[in-house]
Amino acid sequence: MAETHRNLILKGMAASEGIVAGPAFVMTSVRLPIPRRLLTEEQAPEEIERLRAALREAVSELEEVKKEFGDRFAKEAFYIIDAHSLLIQDQALWAEVEQKIREGRINAEWAVRKTIDEWLKAFASLKDDYLRERGHDVELVCERVLDKLVGHQEKDLRKIQEPVILVAHDLRPDQTAQMFFSKVLGFVTDTGSRTSHTAIVARSLEIPAVVGLEQVTRVVEDGDVIILDGVEGNVIVNPDDDLCSSYLQKKAEWESVNKLLEEYATPPSVTQDGRCIQLCANLEILDEIHFLPKYGAEGVGLYRTEYLYLNRADLPNEDEHFENYRRLAEAVAPYQATIRTFDLGGDQFVGEPRLGGATEEINPALGLRAIRFCLRRPEVFKAQLRGILRASAYGKIRIMFPLISDLNEVLAAKRMLQESMSELDREGIKFDPELLIGIMIEVPSAALLAERLAEEVDFFSIGTNDLIQYVLAIDRVNEYVSYLYQPLHPAVLWMIKRTVEAGHRAGIEVAMCGEMAGDPLLLPVLIGMGMDQLSMPARLIPKVRKVMRGLRVSELTPMVEELLKLSTVEDIRNRIKGLIEKDWAEAYRMEPGKKPDLAGVFLCQKSDQTQ
Ligand code: PEP
Ligand code: MG
Repeated sequence: MAETHRNLILKGMAASEGIVAGPAFVMTSVRLPIPRRLLTEEQAPEEIERLRAALREAVSELEEVKKEFGDRFAKEAFYIIDAHSLLIQDQALWAEVEQKIREGRINAEWAVRKTIDEWLKAFASLKDDYLRERGHDVELVCERVLDKLVGHQEKDLRKIQEPVILVAHDLRPDQTAQMFFSKVLGFVTDTGSRTSHTAIVARSLEIPAVVGLEQVTRVVEDGDVIILDGVEGNVIVNPDDDLCSSYLQKKAEWESVNKLLEEYATPPSVTQDGRCIQLCANLEILDEIHFLPKYGAEGVGLYRTEYLYLNRADLPNEDEHFENYRRLAEAVAPYQATIRTFDLGGDQFVGEPRLGGATEEINPALGLRAIRFCLRRPEVFKAQLRGILRASAYGKIRIMFPLISDLNEVLAAKRMLQESMSELDREGIKFDPELLIGIMIEVPSAALLAERLAEEVDFFSIGTNDLIQYVLAIDRVNEYVSYLYQPLHPAVLWMIKRTVEAGHRAGIEVAMCGEMAGDPLLLPVLIGMGMDQLSMPARLIPKVRKVMRGLRVSELTPMVEELLKLSTVEDIRNRIKGLIEKDWAEAYRMEPGKKPDLAGVFLCQKSDQTQ
């Protein structure tokens, strides 16, 4: 083993949770050189035929992968493969290559290379991260075709028979899927982000992964020992004994806490004195749905439908909305799924040409975002509303409008929903006429108007990620002010309390689906305020449920009254900390004999998952 690095710690992004260690298997990105030849006029048609044959071969290879995986995975993994198939069949791309062969009289490989370089330059100049990332898909697809043309045989990951950690510059989503059938323990890559296709598939298949390491293929060699920490997003190369044992301990602790928490992976979610509070999951992509039973999620409290925009060049149409939500409703049965209508704009999918150019805003968080965007683009909104309504005939679905700041927005959204219902009625298409309608309370004006808004809807869901941002005037994605992002700020607590009371006075359910809902250290406050449902990333549910079972509402309600008399975050935090250590130690003890678990400590900064 050429051991050039010892104890080297590389920082990347945690794309898929888990801690694993093993020898590195480096997928070299060394490819066969791309030959350059000049053609005669007569040779050009032959060369074009050779290109087309390579394209056909590449498509059928992808079809094979799909067939092989059968219906083992949810459809999202296939969307990605389909998106690559579509690119291989993209007229514009390959017409350009053919033109270069015909008019430039150059061989197919060289024409492909030249075309990719031009396309990549165009993608690289795009401002939007998501779209820039799609340039990468073009590159992956072209490399697949180039491999066919130059006769490069790529490594078949299913044939890896040793437990290894795969190290690659990047992986295609279909390659990631292949790992499911191999001995690969996890993978690390130079490129990628949490929303890159590869990361999405890794999460869906629970393959631990760290991405975006930039240099990992340069510094790691075959056989180096690697620790992959998919919890923190770190990769440790050739750790010494001390580092190894500290990671082994971290892994053991992580696993043992997870194991112990399995006991709490089944409902009911109930306090010691018998108050039931539903614990639901937040979903970004439908693939995550198969984790719900594993963690005992009692439904989906927030489905962030913006991610339907992934892996595609156009907008989802009504049928696609319908299909997606129908599958959600069926998978989540007998529980209920809360579908949030698009929250596009703001920090999500900014600069999207598909959104019609509502883009270059100075303050996107205060701009044409979420319900404001939907009301401005009725045709985009209608397709989604009709899709949701049609799916409501197949399971328990409720609809939720984001970023409501005014009664008129609720009335306008309800009018459009009503219009869609009347249309479906006329067309003889079934839907649930009793579909519950809710709004997110995430703007201070909505919290202040909660009483009035409650008359118009069936439930509230408090989106604390935004509520905190708007109450405290702190940009939730700006790392310079993140220290001010305080869920326990008295002003935030007052807003939440006001919302819950207004909801309950009107007899409607009040849920919370911001990150705050999944922080066990904030749970006493949320229970004390009377929250009916908490929705969070699914894997957090067992821990929250465990703590909940050790708390008593009868003690928490008066505690909240006391907390609200305090004036600073510090005072509030110290009071809760003191109570945990003194009165609720058992509820917070994750392992027998250990101290109460105070990890996370009230900061509950927004996780990168939702940024
Ligand atoms: C929130 O704002 O708390 C929320 C749940 O929505 P998002 O994080 O998607 O803005
Ligand atoms: Mg929000």
